[in-house]
Formats: sequence, C-alpha cells, structure tokens
Amino acid sequence: MKALVYTGPGKMALQDRPKPEIKAPTDAIVRISKTTICGTDLHILKGDVPTCEPGRILGHEGVGIIDSVGTAVTSFKPGDHVLISCISSCGKCVWCRKQMYSHCVSGGWILGNKIDGTQAELVRTPFADTSLYHIPEGAVEEALVMLSDILPTGFECGVLNGKVQPGSTVAIVGSGPIGLAALLTAQFFSPAMIIMIDLDDNRLEIARTFGATDAINSSNGMAASAVMTLTEGHGVDTAIEAVGVPGTFQLCQDIIAPGGTIANVGVHGKKADLHLETLWDRNITITTRLVDTISIPMLLKTVGANSIDPNRLITHHFKLDQILEAYETFGNAARTKALKVIISA
Ligand code: ZN
Ligand code: ZN
Repeated sequence: MKALVYTGPGKMALQDRPKPEIKAPTDAIVRISKTTICGTDLHILKGDVPTCEPGRILGHEGVGIIDSVGTAVTSFKPGDHVLISCISSCGKCVWCRKQMYSHCVSGGWILGNKIDGTQAELVRTPFADTSLYHIPEGAVEEALVMLSDILPTGFECGVLNGKVQPGSTVAIVGSGPIGLAALLTAQFFSPAMIIMIDLDDNRLEIARTFGATDAINSSNGMAASAVMTLTEGHGVDTAIEAVGVPGTFQLCQDIIAPGGTIANVGVHGKKADLHLETLWDRNITITTRLVDTISIPMLLKTVGANSIDPNRLITHHFKLDQILEAYETFGNAARTKALKVIISA
C-alpha cells in the first residue's frame, strides 16, 4: 500500500509499504478514505518529536471503512464507517477511567507517532472499541476528519479549559486551524466578545467570517493595548493560547482580566516565562492539556444538527499520490492561504 513515511529530520517520502495486520485482539484495520495533515506532523518533520522515529508512517486523523477486526472487538465489524480519534484509549487504565485518554498508559497519542498512522491506504488502530466512532448515515466524511483532532483540541483545551461563559470576553491568540477551531466551538457558549489575534491578515479576515467580533494584527507589538481598549481596560475573561511560543503566552498574561483563565493549547518547544510578580494577586487560572477527544460524541451530534460546520476549515484537496504537494501547501500557509487540507486515499 502507499504511505507517507517520515525518513528523518526534514525528510519524508511516499513509499510502498506492506499492509498492516492485526497484532492484538483489540485492534482493527481501517481502510482510509480521507485524512489530513496536522501542525504536529510539521513538528515531527522538523525533528522536534523524539518519540517518532524514522520509518514511521505519519498521520493521526482520518475517516474510513473497517477492513478487519481482532477477535475481542465487539462494537465494530468489517464495512462499518468510522471516525478515528487521534488519541488511542484502552478504556481501562487509571487515566482512561478519569477520561484523560491522552495519558492512557498503553495508548494516548501513538498514531503517526509511536506506531504507524493514517496517511496511508490502511491503518492499524489499537483499542478499536474505545478509539473509533461510528459515523452516522449521510454524514459528510470530509467535515468529520476535523473531529479526529482539531475541533476536540480547540474545544477541550481552549474552550472548556478556558471556561468560556455566556456574555464573557474571549481572546484567541493564533488564528490558525486550532485557533479557528476554538473560535467555532467557543460560540456554543455565546460569549459577548471573541477577539482573534494573529500576524496574518488573511487568517484574521477568515476569523471574522467564522464569528470573531474583533480581529487584531499583532505584528506592530500593540496587541495587548488594543485588547485593553476593546475591553474598557479590563482584559479578557478567557485568553486561549493557540500558537505555542513564549511571546504569545506572554500576550495572554498581559491581557487576562482579574479572575480570568489562560488556557494553553499551543505545543511549546521552548521555555516560556510566567510573570507571577504581576499576576500573583489577580485570581487567575492557567490550564494546560493534551486533547483527550472526550468531546467527539458531542461534536458528532452538533455537526449532525448543523450547529457547527467544520467544512469551513478545509481549503485544499489532494489525492494520496499528491501528499508531498499537500505538505508543501500546508507548510507554506502564509503564501497558499491553507487551513486544513483533505487527502483522499
Ligand atoms: Zn494533530
Ligand atoms: Zn488507557
């Protein structure tokens, strides 16, 4: 089968690989119909993710059809249409029992990281019963690819952890796919104000069409004072950090209102400073999280009810044969205006 393989820092190749086989009775083999590329895949390519070794098939998002199941799988059978969670969950360990699937002792984020992933014609998914979801009849496949990772990530790590409330004020720092996913899902709670902050005017323009009440280009270094002006000097109740660099975490600290919550979503590769000398008396909360994908069943219902349209995050389409071109497009988002790319296998 064809598969996109990480071959070492800065390198990848579309290769012919043997079909995956059932290794444990709880496994399923899924024939991928649609997958996508994540910012995390770009981190792997840079060599930033040491758990992902050369030779690994990348990808942790996708939908497909069950090809075969192990003897212990009871909820799925060949032919079933399924959504693959980016997080594999055994459902039994101490962390899974606390719904912290991302910390599952034998699962977590392993697809396209510690085991072969979804950017291929077929993928082996461990713990199928607790890591796959049935796709409702008539659902649009492409939209549901957004439910493998980015919508749950924006919602769980940003919106839920950030305690977005009706009438509250929210700033989302970073208007990439994850920031936009937080923007879409924050609106479930009807905040009064959602301010999007980014360096790219195109992404801010998109954010406005997605429901942002205000958009700030931070390239002039004045974003914090612009937020203060918009909020009558109070700052925001929720600041969602959706970039993962020290400067954006700093900005969140500069704009958080007393009693507010800074919800970190970004993957930080470098030390970021925490300014307790200014924040110690401000009753703030800082949260961190890796997505657990506990919200997938709820998100499937909201997509089914048309209360959210994840299709809006999709800007480009490619065939699996063209996946190197898809990486090129996704990796140069400022020039190509790419948000999420769909790859059809
Ligand atoms: Zn991802
Ligand atoms: Zn577990």
